[in-house]
Amino acid sequence: MNYKALAERLLPGEYPSLQSYEEKYPPRGLPKGAEVTRLAPSPTGFIHLGNLFAAIANERIAHQSGGILYLRIEDTDLKRKVDGAVEAVKNALRYFDIKFDEGAEIGGDDTYAPWYQRQRAEIYRAFVKHLIEEGRAYPCFCTEEELTALREEQTKNKEITGYYGKYAKCRNLSEEEIYRNLDEGKPFVIRLKSLGNPENKHKFRDEIKGDITVPENDQDVVILKSDGIPTYHFAHAIDDHFMRTTLVIRGEEWLASLPIHIELFDALGFERPRYGHNCSLMKQDGASRRKLSKRKDPELSLEFYRKEGYFARAVKVYMLTLLNSNFEEWYRKNPEAPLDSFQFSASKMSKSGTLFDLDKLNDISKDELSKLSAEEMFDFLKTWADEYGSEAQKGYFADREKMLKTLTLCMGIGGKKRRKDFTTASQAMEFIKFFFERPETYEEFRAELYDRASVMDHFLESYRYEDDAQTWFAKIKQAAELNGYAAEMKEYKANPEAYKGSVADVAEILRIATTGRANTPDLWTIMQILGEKEVRERIATLMWKFSQEWYREIEPSAEEMARELYRESLGLPPKGENK
Ligand code: GLU
Repeated sequence: MNYKALAERLLPGEYPSLQSYEEKYPPRGLPKGAEVTRLAPSPTGFIHLGNLFAAIANERIAHQSGGILYLRIEDTDLKRKVDGAVEAVKNALRYFDIKFDEGAEIGGDDTYAPWYQRQRAEIYRAFVKHLIEEGRAYPCFCTEEELTALREEQTKNKEITGYYGKYAKCRNLSEEEIYRNLDEGKPFVIRLKSLGNPENKHKFRDEIKGDITVPENDQDVVILKSDGIPTYHFAHAIDDHFMRTTLVIRGEEWLASLPIHIELFDALGFERPRYGHNCSLMKQDGASRRKLSKRKDPELSLEFYRKEGYFARAVKVYMLTLLNSNFEEWYRKNPEAPLDSFQFSASKMSKSGTLFDLDKLNDISKDELSKLSAEEMFDFLKTWADEYGSEAQKGYFADREKMLKTLTLCMGIGGKKRRKDFTTASQAMEFIKFFFERPETYEEFRAELYDRASVMDHFLESYRYEDDAQTWFAKIKQAAELNGYAAEMKEYKANPEAYKGSVADVAEILRIATTGRANTPDLWTIMQILGEKEVRERIATLMWKFSQEWYREIEPSAEEMARELYRESLGLPPKGENK
């Protein structure tokens, strides 16, 4: 077979020499040990936790070794491409502070560009042409239907599916048959002519999994599709070679393709990068564990964390906890140190499925947010609200002083102990809502309707905004006493029968009336922040509502009483005794 002529027929025209690519994309000249890593997402618009997981590992390994992290967009599959996906990837990773040195839309050194695989078609084709010339690649004219039938037959015979060995029909086409097909204009793909035998197994050093055994590949995989665009496998080999990647950290779903990649690198005469296959993120689902799923688990998508307003550092801390087994202890000892000062290592990454637990992340988030100052929290919440908040929530930030006071109180700043009530921006905004909007709903009051109205009445009469916390509380105690509640907790506990309740129940009336909630930070301070007018209006509104309800409640019994008196005046027996 004249392979040279075939290559010319399949990929006509002059291509730059292979050597010229080596010169165009020279070795990077970084110091020894500096790693070049990359993130190579497909622009599907769905950027997920697995991407972040790999991104953090790649970023740490690159930068801690004085190397480079770049962003390559693997857009060979047009069907999966979504507009705006690259922006989405970049925004998502920027949120988590993943810094790329170069790559698609990054703006760094462009020596190794283009960064979009679709723009690299010429390089791929030059090398495919070379493989055809060498007799290591051939055209395949099999149709979808034929391939489906083949797969079905193999499945029926319980054989490995795919295009290999005796099933690789087009591998053995004669020169004549090939040219006839081409003359007839039959569409074709280019396949690798595999020389491997899966019976032969080799030891392979995976940077994460350690020593593993990898069989040789025997699949004649497609390297160039009928539209002239390569498959992931081929583009990966070319790009990681010419972008001078030293270490590929990627998801373990690619482990099964490793034999193909090894053969491709060998066929192309390229030195291989090192590989580390990182484990999948699992979720506890009842008694079993399963992979996080796009359909079932919203927390798989990175968009989820931004919409909910997770604090990026908290997510990063949790990811590092999952990524490196010694991180948690290091962090406990160095809570103030920059995360980047942790010595990350691929060999300490988990070898099998890692359990991702949202509750654990929430705990870390509470801790991380409780380290912020009121100003930092202000900025964090405002940034979130500007992007995801409602109009009302955006408005909370108009009065900076009020917001800072609110946050100082709610975070327990300056108190005995920092509070840890905030998990995410959206949850924090919900938590502080009552400072900025009147309650729409009220939690259950323990006190009776009459007592509620009466306590509020007393409060409104005696309330002075200028009162300090003690004076304010003394008045609440007074209201308690006047309504048959114990003014001191001690008294109530000693003799609960003698009271309707304690001062705590009375304070609760005012707390719920003011905030809608039975549990809040210090009520006196809340009232100070809200201001006298607002406090009075909130309490008066509810007092009016309860008074009305109370009258409505007592009316039926008044009616009943009148009816009884009427019966008595007529000399009739009381209603219950009238048999
Ligand atoms: N485009 C592949 C993906 O999104 C990248 C795999 C790799 O990192 O090599 O899964």
